[in-house]
Amino acid sequence: MLGHEEQQKAVEEIINKFNGNMAVVIAEIQRLINRYFMENNISPADALNFDVIFNQILQEAGYYTLVNEMVDKDYNELFSLIKSGFKEGGFDITYTADDLTLVQALKNVQSNNFSVIGSSAATSLRENLYRYSLSDFTVDQMAAQIAEDFKGTNVARHSTTLARTAIAEYQQAVIDIEAKDLDGVWLYIGVDDNSTRDFCHCVLKQNAYFDTATKNKIESDPKRKYNCRHRLRMVTEDYAKSEGYTFKSSISC
Ligand SMILES: [Zn+2]
Repeated sequence: MLGHEEQQKAVEEIINKFNGNMAVVIAEIQRLINRYFMENNISPADALNFDVIFNQILQEAGYYTLVNEMVDKDYNELFSLIKSGFKEGGFDITYTADDLTLVQALKNVQSNNFSVIGSSAATSLRENLYRYSLSDFTVDQMAAQIAEDFKGTNVARHSTTLARTAIAEYQQAVIDIEAKDLDGVWLYIGVDDNSTRDFCHCVLKQNAYFDTATKNKIESDPKRKYNCRHRLRMVTEDYAKSEGYTFKSSISC
């Protein structure tokens, strides 16, 4: 409905591609860390520079390229699917220059979130390496320990979660940016199956359409959590009625 299935399929494809490429990037980061230790005798002064080295490693391993490719290119299909979704719901939208500026700003924020976990990994690895270099670790021990520490960073552990969250936020933000100029109502759209959370199941079964105030409450409800497969979609009131939805001014889920 409203192209939601196609959008979620596109999301899964983006995530699968991202995961595959990220596994390659992570293996490459590990290889480059290892190479650095093979080629250098680490003094405490070197260790204090390791954040710079690690950022170069992220760059060389393709971490930033991968993230930017997802945000700059892979999102494009979603962008056109969102437009067709609006059309099915009764609104023939065009993306204006202002809309595109807002969308680009959002993409910059998202790319920056990935840079932040990169820098924070760099800082913590530098601190650890400095301590190891003061504690008489051999280079081999330092290499092994830093390889282990890298596995614990958010770059290694949470990049996929961050990507999934970023995509969901992008979808809803593009919808919200377009909806600002439209006089429509909101539907809560998505599957209701065994893994649907209680909150989402409760909203879905109301079979209702909402005004923007209620939509905002639903959207920001912490019970949806990060991995929610549902989106709030704007449609014309006529469309909502013709699909059998009735208006509710509030919900308690
Ligand atoms: Zn949900």
